[in-house]
Amino acid sequence: MPALPALPLRSSLPGALWPPLPEAGGATVLAMLWQLERSERLPRPRRAALQLVQARALIRHAARHSTAWAAAWKGLGFDPARDALTPERFARLPVVDRGWLQAAGTAASCEAVPPEHGALHEAETAGTTGLALRFRGTLLSQFMWRAITLRDHLWHRRDFSGHLAALRPLPMREVREDNWGAATAGLCDTGPATGLSVSESLDEQARWLRQENPDVLVTQPGNLRALAEWFLGHGGAPTRLSCLRSTGEPLTPAIRLLAQRAFGLPVEDAYSARETGYLALQCPRHGHLHVQEEAVILELLDEKGVAVPPGAPGRVVVTVLHNFASPLVRYDTGDWAVAGAPACDCGRTLATLERVLGRGRNRLRRSDGVPRWPAFDPWLLPGTQGLVDWQVRQQGPRRFEMLLVVGECFDAASRDVFARALGADLGEPCEVTFRVVDRIDRGPGERREPFIDLQAS
Ligand SMILES: [Zn+2]
Repeated sequence: MPALPALPLRSSLPGALWPPLPEAGGATVLAMLWQLERSERLPRPRRAALQLVQARALIRHAARHSTAWAAAWKGLGFDPARDALTPERFARLPVVDRGWLQAAGTAASCEAVPPEHGALHEAETAGTTGLALRFRGTLLSQFMWRAITLRDHLWHRRDFSGHLAALRPLPMREVREDNWGAATAGLCDTGPATGLSVSESLDEQARWLRQENPDVLVTQPGNLRALAEWFLGHGGAPTRLSCLRSTGEPLTPAIRLLAQRAFGLPVEDAYSARETGYLALQCPRHGHLHVQEEAVILELLDEKGVAVPPGAPGRVVVTVLHNFASPLVRYDTGDWAVAGAPACDCGRTLATLERVLGRGRNRLRRSDGVPRWPAFDPWLLPGTQGLVDWQVRQQGPRRFEMLLVVGECFDAASRDVFARALGADLGEPCEVTFRVVDRIDRGPGERREPFIDLQAS
């Protein structure tokens, strides 16, 4: 069944109530959604060929209007500004990282952008001082963000009349709007949207959630876990919730389980980054994510630059197809993800990500040098109450420090349980020292970082 009829369209023409005629901007998004509903079911080779058509237009533009990209693509044996782009040639383009973009500065942006792509805006990624990345976007890149936000709502059949509440990083304490924002503006009517800063205490967040009693809750996985624990301990979870949407950090299987227990709902996850826009949305039928292949070419590569097979972790390397102002071509995002199965029984042929793992610096390393994404989660270990927050920091081979934020009922004997479980997870005994702290600092973008390899930073 097509999802589009689920959109409660708003007519902009007085007297023309049915069928409704949205205003021009909304109608253009609707036209894109109509295309996305078809392209997500195309045979994969057909969609891959279309991606390359768009990538070629982007790469030609970047080669002609950005000195940094033109220099990076010298000596490849073909001219990206003129020659046809084949899959083999695309794979020869160098992978660039954030360090390269920062060194290139404004030279990595284009001095000319097709005026039809709309007004330019400046933005910045989250990052500690010196690590943030400045970039520009266009109305076209915002338009793709808008279309995919709506696709996410439609895939998960969200009720647009509901109250949406977000707990996220905010420059102020609280926001209150009478609609869901830019994605639905001019297209359909929605319920209200409210937001509270995620830096408020858990007690305050819980009180606010009970007061708002929303239908949709959007927050980061780390905060969702803390809230789930809070409501499991105190009771009185909000009663109307029909959707839990997570974003901004890797969502772990443990957090999914805990949220399901606390709120009686599965979590719907999305993977995006400021500089790239949406990368993947959770499948409506499964826990894995579908790559947004109409907006990005997403590659998962091993340390040698070779595509990883399903089930294996790889670096997330992205080409953003519609940003002609600050092009990103084979950009290493710094994230790692696990490649998913090649097919999904939901009928969509979009590639899948089994799981997003996070930043390379959030891995640990065995003493033989093999990196490892730990499954260790002290919150899941039996008989260890009172652990409020934690972080494992690797100081050297087999040497770790575990920071603990603890409540009154914490039993110091739990530390031995943690040390054994961490060693079992890494497959070798390790030395763990413990330090009780008042709070654990968040990473860039208010991200919770359960693991940090201090050897890598
Ligand atoms: Zn699917």
